[in-house]
Amino acid sequence: LRAALESFRPHGTEHQPDHDPQPSMCEHDLGAAIEGGQVLPYFQPKVDVQTGILKGVEALARWIHPERGMVSPDRFIPLAEQCGLIHPLTLAMMDQAMGQAAIWHSRGLAIKVAVNLSPLLLEKPDFLHRILELVDKHALPAEHVVLEITESSVVAHKGNSLGMLARLRLKGFGLSIDDYGTGFSSMQQLARIPFTELKIDRSFVHGAHDRKNLRVILQSALDMAQRLELVTVAEGVETMEDWRLLQDFGCSLGQGYLIGKPMPAHELPLWLKGHHRR
Ligand code: C2E
Ligand code: CA
Ligand code: CA
Ligand code: CA
Repeated sequence: LRAALESFRPHGTEHQPDHDPQPSMCEHDLGAAIEGGQVLPYFQPKVDVQTGILKGVEALARWIHPERGMVSPDRFIPLAEQCGLIHPLTLAMMDQAMGQAAIWHSRGLAIKVAVNLSPLLLEKPDFLHRILELVDKHALPAEHVVLEITESSVVAHKGNSLGMLARLRLKGFGLSIDDYGTGFSSMQQLARIPFTELKIDRSFVHGAHDRKNLRVILQSALDMAQRLELVTVAEGVETMEDWRLLQDFGCSLGQGYLIGKPMPAHELPLWLKGHHRR
């Protein structure tokens, strides 16, 4: 991992913003935190809406800062993107998440593991090689790894990203369109990118049962995704009403606080026990 981190150090000023808002945090803290193992994945369950069976987990980055406590990814992911640290951060996340998935597999829990991808990575020709190295290292079939990509982000970074997504798909990785409904070019992307999964943004999920507009959008999006033969995931499932509506609409997977919050890997077995008992 150290070697991978070294090779991903930003060269020159390629990724540097004009003026760095927090140079010390950027250059020193976050980079050191990644290398020092302070950035780690929490895992949130993705369960079958009809049966309740655990089908996968999404790895969500957490920075456990020795003084500041837990830092939210909404704060440090943009920072990592600005500082040119998103590559090592993602590789470190993938390395840990895949390692964990391999352990679960060896214990008979054959769940998929999803990792969030910054669009900046898709521009990096080396990325394919790196991710293949990691699945190899953990002896994890690429079919068990899902890459979640925010829909608005792919539009912004056309360049090589479409080609990279196609190559990743050919290697067997699942491709998930994240935060569906919040971008502006969704349909176009669905037609061009070989996605395997569509994740409906939580703004259309939570509360859809008592708001007609949300409900119509949710149902139409699910209907379209089903016709495209995509796995459908609803995020932000917070109440039983949300859950029942998804069952009625035939959504494949659900994710949200009602089912389980993001948790460290060691808590998953306990969560599973409680989940089975419900
Ligand atoms: P996301 O990929 O859309 O992840 C879902 C977010 O919704 C997570 O926030 C999760 O904790 C939260 N969430 C889950 N269930 C519920 C619910 O029922 N209600 C509500 N209100 N929220 C729920 P989190 O972990 O703070 O992550 C925020 C964002 O940071 C993620 O959004 C993702 O875009 C980004 N992110 C996290 N980890 C990584 C990473 O390793 N790499 C990259 N590039 N981005 C990451
Ligand atoms: Ca995601
Ligand atoms: Ca999302
Ligand atoms: Ca989001």
